[in-house]
Amino acid sequence: MITVNDPSLKSWIDVQPNCDFPIQNLPFGIFKTQSSSPRVGIAIGDQVLDLAILNKLGFMDKLKIDNSIFTNQYLNDFIALGKSTTSSVRELISHLLNENTPDLRDNKEARAKVFQSISNVQMQLPVRVGDYTDFYSSIDHATNVGTMFRDPSNALLPNWKHLPVGYHGRASSIVISGTDIHRPKGQTKPNEHEPPVFGPCRLLDFELETAFIIGKETKLGESIGTAAAQEHIFGMVLFNDWSARDIQTWEYIPLGPFLSKNFASTVSPWVVTMDALEPFRVAGYKQDPKVLPYLEYSGDKNIDIHLDVFIQPEKGEENLVSHSNYKFMYWTMEQQLAHHTINGCNVNIGDMMASGTISGPTPDSYGSMLEISWRGTKPVKLVDGTERKFINDNDTVLVRGYCQKDGVRIGFGEAKGKIIPAIEY
Ligand code: MN
Repeated sequence: MITVNDPSLKSWIDVQPNCDFPIQNLPFGIFKTQSSSPRVGIAIGDQVLDLAILNKLGFMDKLKIDNSIFTNQYLNDFIALGKSTTSSVRELISHLLNENTPDLRDNKEARAKVFQSISNVQMQLPVRVGDYTDFYSSIDHATNVGTMFRDPSNALLPNWKHLPVGYHGRASSIVISGTDIHRPKGQTKPNEHEPPVFGPCRLLDFELETAFIIGKETKLGESIGTAAAQEHIFGMVLFNDWSARDIQTWEYIPLGPFLSKNFASTVSPWVVTMDALEPFRVAGYKQDPKVLPYLEYSGDKNIDIHLDVFIQPEKGEENLVSHSNYKFMYWTMEQQLAHHTINGCNVNIGDMMASGTISGPTPDSYGSMLEISWRGTKPVKLVDGTERKFINDNDTVLVRGYCQKDGVRIGFGEAKGKIIPAIEY
């Protein structure tokens, strides 16, 4: 067991019971304020600990980390120090914030310099994303989509249980939570017997996903085995893979999604480390048929992460539209990474690998409006009396997630995005 995950640990910083960021979490992010440039921070309670100032003041001296690692607009250089160093940083911060450690607790002057209220900081994209891959690894999601668009008796295509299906997405349009998203425009074909038309997307959807961030690179030609995969995964974020269903339906044959997916994806700002998630591991989905040897793995490789999606109309309240869980995934992150690299494809620090829409087995756990409204045939009623089949202009979609066990809540914060009208062409 990782000692800093001990549920009995308490901080001298006040942490409310429902807070995502207790001393057992300590996620990393990049923040700036009105008076400071972007830098590395750690969330604790409703505070952000400024690692650039903490290091400069000497509190991290024994780790001998150059301050340029922390006065940095991305976490990539920090992650590149390697897991033994980044885990040591988390251990040192846990010790400093522990209720019994006086060093920072009793140093009022230093405390005033190293903390910012979380409500006063502006969070940034945590990593420079070189490449982004999106998988399709939830069996309930793939079954629902196959049932709707193809054949209920053969909902899963023949390859689905033999390999984690995925496609290469686009890194340039991955944006930080809070970024407004213009409704995409494009070609759609609303009438089967008429030519395609151009205009704003009419069936705009979210996809409830998580993403893992590559923590150790490989060289071209190398492959990562399932047993070694954890060394290459730094942590996880929440991920909303915005999708234009009407554009997707017309464009995706034969090469898969293109403009229907690459206009925006929203990520949460705090990277929760795999170390912090370790206590929430659960057994993976029972895979039948047996996978090929390079995809076999041992141990509990799934994770029990509660995932919620809310729709908030402009000036309205939040409406819970989905309550899902990462543990419903059929393919594990270790298998996804093993498959991704089995051909020798190299990975780089900061690459993002998204799970694919995470649906559970029941309609209240479906991870997209496509499934929740079953292609628009079952509209969702919101508390303000309006209905949604898909996402309207000026709706905000919020994805939240957390693990909870033994009185400890390891949260991810939120990935939030508002849809604003299309820019006129
Ligand atoms: Mn997706």
